[in-house]
Amino acid sequence: MSSDAPVLKLYNTLTRAKEEFRPLDPANVRMYVCGPTVYDYAHIGNARPIIVFDVLFRLLRHLYGADHVTYVRNITDVDDKINARAAERGITIRELTEGTNKIFQEDVKALGCLEPTVQPRATEHIAEMIALIEKMIAAGHAYAADGHVLFDVPSMADYGRLSRRPLDEMIAGARVDVAPYKRGDMDFVLWKPSKESEPGWESPWGRGRPGWHLECSAMSWKHLGEVFDIHGGGIDLVFPHHENEIAQTRCAFGHEAMANYWMHNGFLQVEGEKMSKSLGNFVTINELLHTENFGGRKWPGEVLRLAMLRTHYRQPIDFTVKALEEAELSLRNWGAEIGALELDGDGFGAGFGAPDGSGYGGGHAGFDTVLEALQDDLNTPFALTILHAIDDKRELDLSLRLLGVDVRSYSAWVEVERMRSVDVELVSKLIASRLAARAAKNWAESDRIRDELAAMGVALKDNKDGTTTWEVKR
Ligand code: AMP
Ligand code: ZN
Repeated sequence: MSSDAPVLKLYNTLTRAKEEFRPLDPANVRMYVCGPTVYDYAHIGNARPIIVFDVLFRLLRHLYGADHVTYVRNITDVDDKINARAAERGITIRELTEGTNKIFQEDVKALGCLEPTVQPRATEHIAEMIALIEKMIAAGHAYAADGHVLFDVPSMADYGRLSRRPLDEMIAGARVDVAPYKRGDMDFVLWKPSKESEPGWESPWGRGRPGWHLECSAMSWKHLGEVFDIHGGGIDLVFPHHENEIAQTRCAFGHEAMANYWMHNGFLQVEGEKMSKSLGNFVTINELLHTENFGGRKWPGEVLRLAMLRTHYRQPIDFTVKALEEAELSLRNWGAEIGALELDGDGFGAGFGAPDGSGYGGGHAGFDTVLEALQDDLNTPFALTILHAIDDKRELDLSLRLLGVDVRSYSAWVEVERMRSVDVELVSKLIASRLAARAAKNWAESDRIRDELAAMGVALKDNKDGTTTWEVKR
């Protein structure tokens, strides 16, 4: 980054302030985001952190270079919900998580998200988890009891710094899990024994499995090191998950920090209500993409993504049909504007962004102003407002690419859906009949067939070479 470029500012939950982002190593900016627990389809709330941190990933790649950012998003493939679901279906946890993970990967691809640099699976990091526990025990921060290993919360002087919860509230919350083997009420599980029927791994404390918080400490350590730059997830993860990740990693390695910037997205609700199965407004990404269960129609990933970016990531978001319709209208307009524009490669060629004296700065709406909005704690709603004021097609295109909003892919979806809406076999048959009618000079019949096709939304074009081609209108 050149020295006069605007700096990236991010709101840090740890300090409750917007801070200038200074990576530990600009040649390798490192970010970890808590990924899904793959026991079922991901819902549209789960899509929010995926999209938000994808925008940040794209922005970091733009600022530091694509090869200088490492983004790790884990896959939690061992968890009691997974065990229960696999047992219910009579399959192994691996079979269950393979299936749900495949769908998850397809879902997030449709949402226009880049693949993270690494997507580690918890079950492939058991050795690192055991090593972490041993480090914590050696440092006097964890103890084994009754086949379990627990983190000794009072052994950490500044436990609770991230969530800033009053001690009595944390104790009350932790009391839900009273257990005879716990020394302190707030102590949490690092390792627990597995029954014969449950998935388990051999360990110095017997056959067992890890606690959820431990998984992320192990995977971030393995792929990003003992201390890294950014750690993200939904706001619900601040306590206890992230608080406990910090406790584990810091106490295992003795550093002041696990990550320097902690970022959390706000929650998503649907049509003004908390999403829940019992309210009947629970909707998965897959359903939105492929069924007509929400608003009576399918929604392409580009529309879902754009609708999400209209709200600042730290604000709660109300996911509504109206917001989706408005997002789609923008995509349609942009598609008409830049659809035919051709760009080389990813468009961010060398030299782009260098002021050429025409159209940059000075309050002019362009790529640089969009970039500036994103550098201000990912202000996507403001970036979108700027987008609507950009009249240079190339700058509009580059700005949309930076946000990961793929207008061409949306237009292609529209085309495919149009084609799907007609019975291709029937169209071919009618066209053949019409050609036969024309050959017999039966113009009335030929016109009647043309009208019938028009009523189906099919427009014909008679070519000079005697063939007839067709397309679907609207
Ligand atoms: P989970 O599978 O529940 O662990 O959630 C995976 C990710 O989605 C976490 O980062 C959660 O914070 C996030 N998340 C879950 N529900 C919502 C929601 N309704 N709105 C926004 N983020 C959510
Ligand atoms: Zn985590």
